[in-house]
This record gives sequence, C-alpha cells and structure tokens, in this order.
Amino acid sequence: MIIDSHMHINSKVLDNTKEYIDDINNNLNIESVINVGLNIATSRESIAIANDNSKFYCAVGIHPLYIENEDIKELYKISFNDKVVAIGEIGLDLSHNNIKEQIKYLIKQIMIANLLKLPVIIHSNNANKLIIDIFEKAVKPENGCVFHCFQPDIDDLNYLISNNYYISFAGKITYKNAKKSIEVAKRVPNDLFLVETDSPYISPEPCRSEINKTSNIKYIVNKLSEIKNISIEEVEKLTNQNTKRLFKKIR
Ligand SMILES: [Zn+2]
Repeated sequence: MIIDSHMHINSKVLDNTKEYIDDINNNLNIESVINVGLNIATSRESIAIANDNSKFYCAVGIHPLYIENEDIKELYKISFNDKVVAIGEIGLDLSHNNIKEQIKYLIKQIMIANLLKLPVIIHSNNANKLIIDIFEKAVKPENGCVFHCFQPDIDDLNYLISNNYYISFAGKITYKNAKKSIEVAKRVPNDLFLVETDSPYISPEPCRSEINKTSNIKYIVNKLSEIKNISIEEVEKLTNQNTKRLFKKIR
C-alpha cells in the first residue's frame, strides 16, 4: 500500500473537499496521506480533517508564498496534536522578491520543528543552494527533512544524501522532459526517497490536463519502478518504510 507523502486538500485550493476525502478513504491502495498546510488557516483545516479521518495525517506550516500577515506563534500552538507529523511546507520561492522576509519565516519554522522534534517539509523554487546555505550558517533541521518535488541538481542531491535528508518525487518525473529528475532518481539511495502527488497540482502523465488526485500516485510509483529497475511492490515497500522512518508519528 502506498503513502502519499505530500498533498493538499483544503478549501483554499478545492471546492468540494468532501469528495476528495471520500475518494482517499475508499481507495484500498492508499494506506495514508500527509495533507500539507499552506498557512495557519489551511493548517488548522488539515488538523481537523486528520482528526476525523484515520488515513489522514497533517503537516502544519507557512509556505513562502503565503507569509503575509501570518503569525508564527499560532503555528507553534497548533503543532501539539498527535496527527501533526511535520512542519511544512516551508522554504523559499524565488518567483517572489520578498526573500529576506521568506528567510525569516523559514529560519523560525525550522527552529519550531527542532523544538518539537519534528521533521520539516521543504519547498524550494530555484532556491536549493540558498536553503542549503541557511542550513549550514543559520539553523539545520535536526529531526529529518525532505525536499518535496525536488528540483534536480546533482550537487544539491549529494548534500542531501550526505545529511540523510530525503528526496520526494512527484508527477514531474513522468514528463517527457524529465531527464534530470530521472538521473536523480537513479542516484538517490533506496532508503532516501519518497513519493507524493502534490495534488491538486502537477498531475502526472497520462492525466496532465486534469485536477490531480492522490489515486494518481500509481503513475509515479510505476515510473520509479521502471527507472530504478525494481518491482512496483518493492517501490511501494521502500517508500512506505522511508516515509514512516522520516515521519515517526505515522502509524
Ligand atoms: Zn505542496
């Protein structure tokens, strides 16, 4: 059974969240999901959904594109819940130019994760090097870290591997122009990779024109099985073990 290690079901991004929740609850191939918050409001929603649905876990955090008017003290308060398995998604996004402000939020949220002994889920848009620099010079995640939907770069990959940080593959690995991601997937050790849909975003082939759903995770698993030349069952087993090793509160 597969764990979707990163997806978003909340009213900010979907109209009828119940339909998507039921879809996951009824899918026998899906063991569990981590529903990731983008700000305080969606993090609260993620906690509520996880409290009501046994397959759902959650990550709480303030995404770099949603930092405006968000209160980090609130984040600390809501993190004390059995189903909160990580702080995320947090990170840097160079598509916006408020980088100084983003860096402040990133550093404070890594400090909260360290205080609570939780791993972090990192969003990096063209910012791998900058984030690694923050890890080295300011604060390092002490309880595990995953770069979700990893933007492929072999140097950055080597840094993550040497720190036992995880790399998560999403729909992009199924695209025709995914050469670099495929190279990364070949090189990443079998005990350091995860799978995710990042739904409702970045649908994999063959459903790129549709809203992405957790059930599409099979296309990502199939692709990794092909790239790494191991069976689909083996990919499921490895990602299941890896996800639970990183997110220790998942049962
Ligand atoms: Zn995401």
